[in-house]
Amino acid sequence: MRFVIIGGDAAGMSAASRAKRRQRDMQVTVLEQTGDVSYSACGMPYNMADPAREMDDLIVRHAHVFREKQGIDLRIMHRVETIDPVRRTVSGTATDGDGFQLSYDKLLIATGASAIIPDLPGFDLPGFMGLKNLEDGRRIKRFMVDHEVGKVVIIGMGYIALEMCEALRARNMDVTMVKPGPVFLPWMNEDLSSMVKEEVAANGVAMYPGHEVREIDRIDGGLKVVSPDLELDGQMVLVAIGVRPNSDLAKNAGLQLGPKKAIAVDKGLLTSENDIYAAGDCADAYHVVTGRKTWVPLALRANRAGWAVADNVTGGEKMLPGIAGTAVFKVFELQVARTGLNPAEAIEAGFEPIEVMIKGRTRAHAHPGASTIGVEMVGDRKSGRLLGVQMVGKEGAAHRIDAPAVALHAGMTVEAFSQSDLAYAPPFGPVWDPMLTAANELLKKM
Ligand SMILES: Cc1cc2nc3c(=O)[nH]c(=O)nc-3n(C[C@H](O)[C@H](O)[C@H](O)COP(=O)(O)OP(=O)(O)OC[C@H]3O[C@@H](n4cnc5c(N)ncnc54)[C@H](O)[C@@H]3O)c2cc1C
Repeated sequence: MRFVIIGGDAAGMSAASRAKRRQRDMQVTVLEQTGDVSYSACGMPYNMADPAREMDDLIVRHAHVFREKQGIDLRIMHRVETIDPVRRTVSGTATDGDGFQLSYDKLLIATGASAIIPDLPGFDLPGFMGLKNLEDGRRIKRFMVDHEVGKVVIIGMGYIALEMCEALRARNMDVTMVKPGPVFLPWMNEDLSSMVKEEVAANGVAMYPGHEVREIDRIDGGLKVVSPDLELDGQMVLVAIGVRPNSDLAKNAGLQLGPKKAIAVDKGLLTSENDIYAAGDCADAYHVVTGRKTWVPLALRANRAGWAVADNVTGGEKMLPGIAGTAVFKVFELQVARTGLNPAEAIEAGFEPIEVMIKGRTRAHAHPGASTIGVEMVGDRKSGRLLGVQMVGKEGAAHRIDAPAVALHAGMTVEAFSQSDLAYAPPFGPVWDPMLTAANELLKKM
């Protein structure tokens, strides 16, 4: 059987490796348009912070290892341009200009997502950068050194923009951030987002939400980001305003698309076309709280979905229940985490949300080094179900979020969650963990 995979990063290489492990004689071919496979995009901001580190440190496994040790027919610099589901072929062009066509028995589309780059004047000038793949990372790092960059404008204030802001400040660069939306982190509880905003400001970063960027101009010694009511300059401009799924190949082949134009898949990762699967950032997923389709492009789902496809093309019947939208990031000293729905998303999904916001301590009373942890918890008045949690703190937020994430997968009520036997010792939290305090307060309101 011939299993062809388009895209050679998290979802694609997870699928290729596992399929080969499960069925040694399967012919597995991966077609990757760039020269890089299997690397940690998530590590790029942290790598960027340290001039001594090579960007290639982030490569998890090199192409030759997949070929020589695992027997995977991995072809880099091969861009797929069309899928023909009737003839069961994919075709495209290699970077050397040669065209190629391959037939498949089973096909996986694992093309990921692309950074959104506005189609505006100056968004292609030297010094303008987007960050999505390893080559972008290398380009940014090289540019910072070659041009002795001391001042950067970041367009966007999402998690990648904030991680990059921290990385550039670690290299003593001046950073300003701008975005069109008026609210700093619009998906977040206002008190919690204020904690994050204060942390960013305390680290010397000026933020300008509510400014529509119209163009980037070349000026003496750098670039100028122009809004109707604001001009910001720097030697480098970085855009991080989100990503969109790479689903054109699938759309042109007649496959159905789901939310945000991600490729629609069932719980077994099968698309609307027989024998064609999709996994990772290019594909949608079921949300375990709403039961509806959603699109949340994050790494664990990409790896897990790749594995599930491998199981299914090698005779298994793996069904993934879905995602809870669990996410975490660090900005300077703060950990920012979320799982499930915020109140607005809960209303949109037909729930009757009630929420509480509490501020607790990260360590026991009188234990040295304690700091504040903010928690928002959302429950459903009708069913009593836990719907979502957000958290911000200097310690203990990143992994604490896993408890409510598991509770969401289990469909627990707030009452049941409030009875969870959570761990306690003074260096790690108060005896009533902030999760339990939030649940108890929420129960009073429900
Ligand atoms: C800076 C940064 C930080 C991140 N931090 C986190 C984090 O902290 N936590 C987290 O969960 N996630 C994080 N992510 C997201 C995470 O990296 C992605 O969710 C994950 O990489 C998705 O894997 P994927 O295989 O679906 O797609 P990708 O990693 O995008 O891989 C898709 C591959 O397909 C190739 N491809 C596309 N089209 C074609 C074609 N037509 N022909 C051939 N090849 C093609 C691409 O070149 C690419 O190599 C971060 C992303 C970035 C950019």
